[in-house]
Amino acid sequence: MNKDKCLCRPTEVLIFPCTGGSNVGQIANEAAKQLTNQGCGKMYCLAGIGGHIRGIVESTKAAKKIVVIDGCPVSCARKTFEHAGFSIDKHIVITELGIKKENGFPLDGGQIENVVTKIKS
Ligand code: SF4
Repeated sequence: MNKDKCLCRPTEVLIFPCTGGSNVGQIANEAAKQLTNQGCGKMYCLAGIGGHIRGIVESTKAAKKIVVIDGCPVSCARKTFEHAGFSIDKHIVITELGIKKENGFPLDGGQIENVVTKIKS
């Protein structure tokens, strides 16, 4: 089996990056976009969970897997789900993958690719 190939259909897996205002927050965002483009799930709207937007909450309840990508251990996305009463299936923290948090957005394509590969595995 190709270990890079996802077995879930995209609609079964929803991916929520924290999309924070730092390099790691934006790496989380870019990784979620790439995972979506590669058919490994669908990036979805974290702000809709925080805002209790009914359609978004209902679609999220219907997902088979909820994957949350936080940039750093503050874990804003995970905590948003906790406040909304969801349990999540997979939580990734970008800084735990060896990337240092920095102000600004020095995004490195190689770092993003590594993150995507690690999340897929
Ligand atoms: S988890 Fe970290 S990077 Fe993401 S929004 Fe929160 S503080 Fe910012």
